Amino acid sequence: AAMRENRIEKTKTVCTFCGVGCSFEVWTKGREILKIEPTENSPVNSVSTCVKGKFGWDFVNSDQRLTTPLIRKGDEFVPSTWGEALTLIADKMGTIKQTYGGSALGFVSSSKTTNEDSYLMQKLARQVFESNNIDNCSRYCQSPATDGLLATVGYGGDSGTIKDIEKSGLVIIVGANPTEGHPVLATRVKRAKKLFGQKLIVSDLRKHEMAERSDLFLHPKQGTDFVWITAIAKYIIDQGWHDEKYIEQRVNQYSEYLNLLEKYTLEYAEEVTGLPKEQLIETARMIHEADGTSVLWGMGVTQNVAGSHTSAAIANLLLVTGNFGRTGAGAYPLRGHNNVQGSCDMGTLPQWLPGNQRITDDKLREKFEQAYGVEIASQPGLTNIEMLQAVEKGELKAMYLMGEDMAWVDSNSNHVHETLSKLDFFVVQDVFLTKTAQFADVVLPAAPSLEKDGTFTNTERRIQRLYRALDPLGESKPDWWIIQQIAKYMGVNWNYEHPSEIMDEIASLAPIFAGVSYDRLEGWDSLVWPVQKDGTDEPLLYTERFNFADGKANFSLVEYVPPIEFSHEFDLTLNNGRLLEHFHEGNMTNKSKGILYKLPEVFVEVSPELAQERGVKDGSLVRLESPYGAIKLRTVVTDRVQGKELYVPMHSVSHENAINLLTGSVGDVRTQTPAYKQTKVKMEVIKVKGN
Ligand code: SF4
Repeated sequence: AAMRENRIEKTKTVCTFCGVGCSFEVWTKGREILKIEPTENSPVNSVSTCVKGKFGWDFVNSDQRLTTPLIRKGDEFVPSTWGEALTLIADKMGTIKQTYGGSALGFVSSSKTTNEDSYLMQKLARQVFESNNIDNCSRYCQSPATDGLLATVGYGGDSGTIKDIEKSGLVIIVGANPTEGHPVLATRVKRAKKLFGQKLIVSDLRKHEMAERSDLFLHPKQGTDFVWITAIAKYIIDQGWHDEKYIEQRVNQYSEYLNLLEKYTLEYAEEVTGLPKEQLIETARMIHEADGTSVLWGMGVTQNVAGSHTSAAIANLLLVTGNFGRTGAGAYPLRGHNNVQGSCDMGTLPQWLPGNQRITDDKLREKFEQAYGVEIASQPGLTNIEMLQAVEKGELKAMYLMGEDMAWVDSNSNHVHETLSKLDFFVVQDVFLTKTAQFADVVLPAAPSLEKDGTFTNTERRIQRLYRALDPLGESKPDWWIIQQIAKYMGVNWNYEHPSEIMDEIASLAPIFAGVSYDRLEGWDSLVWPVQKDGTDEPLLYTERFNFADGKANFSLVEYVPPIEFSHEFDLTLNNGRLLEHFHEGNMTNKSKGILYKLPEVFVEVSPELAQERGVKDGSLVRLESPYGAIKLRTVVTDRVQGKELYVPMHSVSHENAINLLTGSVGDVRTQTPAYKQTKVKMEVIKVKGN
């Protein structure tokens, strides 16, 4: 460390801010970050980065970092040694396990930590505490996309790479805003349009920057995507534009699917979605004429009651037109956090063991039972949402949460706060004292990505190494180290000396990681899962087979689920999403001075029509109230939004005006992902003008 003070060091790392997975060198001198330098060697971004990847890093030196463990004494947190904190956790959680069994304990993992951290978190839950109650924050965003793809094509991930998207004749973006959410990926699409004449359709409530660039902009009514997507599939088949041979050879349940399609006529779609018939026909024609179609989707699709059904409908449409298993085509759920994909792959999910192996499958479960030397319950555990319900019922006594800010990010925050206060014992492991940490009994200081070794898996299933560029600040530690200590204090010695040994264990238990090792990921090298033992990887899925025993895909036969109904006093639709400069709800970028200077506070976008009707101007102060809570915001009058639709960015600096004080508890019918996008509010003008 002393040497580091005076020398400029260059360390390869992978960006911690989004699922695109840009890699670059970080130049440091001591703890000072001098520069972020992307190089041509990066498999994803080459020489590009976005503003977060380039300038978002000074949070690592924030004076708000946690630097020692903290133990609650009454209303206060008192710094403690690691020994004291670990002893207390083992004592409390061990006693609860002994008294009530492992199912009285819940574990929440992170989509920001490394694969190795995530793997150990599920191992801690399943082996040491004998609980299947483990979930991660994809429950709040991407679970429906995974669910829809697992049901239809068999892998819960992007079917090709970002390079494949660039080669598509047509890109359709549904309910996502890549310019702000996945910036470097967005530049690839913009370039392909400019250089190769790629066509672009954007479907969104909001006319964002990408929508401005599109050849066709669709503005369906909130929560109705399933209907227009399915009606287009029907229209394509009715016109004889489908790929009959492909369907016959590669997809099951076609005749049942045809039956389901019957009612999804253009007239029905027009009525439900509000999209003119001509636009639907134009969309179908563009798919028919394109040399390969890729569909990209985000939380505008998934955070709805029909989120997983709509994701399956997207896969159905791509199957009808033979758009899986070829370059320049496929399904691309845009993973939000840097390691959403990896965290799920590592089995931090109640029904999945590492490597996407079902816990209900006896043979697969036995393999892990042998490796871990314990019996694993065959029943899936509780989701994040169910864990909180179990706390309410007094069945779940303690929770251990790593790198996740449930009290801010989960919907209906007021209710979540009440529930967290009811826990007998609560451990939070994070880089900062988050909103959630304020409910904890013990807080453990974790090291962020620049301070540890490990791997991340990006949205295209690409596994890349990150190397330690800085020493952990104060007494903070890498997550894998902390989890290993908890196991040790519970009497289980794992003895990992380096994350590479954890990856070796993952490779031995998860066939899709069979050929993954740190040697094969040296420097800028990367692998895209599934990876065979000999190191062959598979950037493009489904060229020969879909991931089912018979090698065939399945048309999903699910139906439309209409949006949640609200009492008519809540007359405005409230949409939410990202801003380019901020990471998610802002828990890292709010500690970055440059970013905070540029975007100090959150606002609400109001359409010119509504502004006129309500007498609102730019900068007016309004109060938004939903059935769950109320917040006050300044207005921005813009035609990016239409009519009675409002838009609020999901980040906020203070909790008093956080979007999730307004969102409700109802979720996707299959995965329980909260229907954040289906929120209705009423608006009261407090002050028309003036700051
Ligand atoms: Fe980081 Fe995403 Fe920006 Fe790339 S696009 S630099 S991964 S935030």
